[in-house]
Amino acid sequence: MEAQPLTGKVALITGASRGLGASIALTLAQAGATVVVNYHSGQEAAEAVVREIAQQQGKAFAIQADVSDAQAVEQLFQQVRAQVGEVDILVNNAGIGVPKPFLEITLDDWQKVLTTNLTSAFLVSQAAIPSMMAKGFGRIITISSTAAQTGGVIGPHYTASKAGLIGLMHSYASLLAQHGITANAIAPALIETDMIRNNPKVTPDLIPMKRFGQPQEVADAVLLLATNGYINGQTINVNGGLYMS
Ligand code: NAP
Repeated sequence: MEAQPLTGKVALITGASRGLGASIALTLAQAGATVVVNYHSGQEAAEAVVREIAQQQGKAFAIQADVSDAQAVEQLFQQVRAQVGEVDILVNNAGIGVPKPFLEITLDDWQKVLTTNLTSAFLVSQAAIPSMMAKGFGRIITISSTAAQTGGVIGPHYTASKAGLIGLMHSYASLLAQHGITANAIAPALIETDMIRNNPKVTPDLIPMKRFGQPQEVADAVLLLATNGYINGQTINVNGGLYMS
């Protein structure tokens, strides 16, 4: 049997209990990676993802952590190291929407969304990067959003968090390239997950293709970025033509 491209690699996917994260976890495991399925509240769902990977002869572990909390991230990495070793591939995927009319967004809403979507990626990346630098290999893949490019439909708090992720990625891409580490973002819209299903303002009519995207279509782009060593500092759009660059 041909060796799989990610055999021997450890992939941590934040927010992998459902939606895009679950599909990314399954896809990276199918490519041979040992996968850490991070979750916040969805223990059962995360364990189901791990079971599905095991049924396909893959390796996966579920680890609970609120990745917006610095102490929880520290504990997450202690557990990852104890169970599977250092992280080679980091997918910053965990995120929340909190759709609201923009004049009703409170400071609490702003802080919750910025901390969950943007600060989390900083915390988890800071924890993963030192061992990537020591090995001379790493892939940091960050799930931004078309909202960063168009303004989107959720609100300025969400848009700012997703645009911040692109800036964070650009910084890592330039600082880390010499260490064999690539950093890239994916900007999806509108992918059929709970985030979209729970937002009545969102319909497939918004998309030139007149359909929602599927989580697998984002996971395919993550696999490309995980296996390619020369794509660096890019934002890959997976959006059915909603934003063209
Ligand atoms: P989803 O179905 O709502 O899933 C969100 C995931 O994030 C869940 O696994 C959730 O974990 C996890 N999560 C939330 N807060 C967390 C925290 N503090 N710590 C750890 N995990 C946390 O959303 P999705 O559509 O798959 O979205 C995934 C990412 O893609 C998000 O960053 C989102 O902004 C981005 N995105 C999605 C779309 C889209 O069209 N769906 C478009 C652009 C960008 P629990 O369930 O365990 O709490």
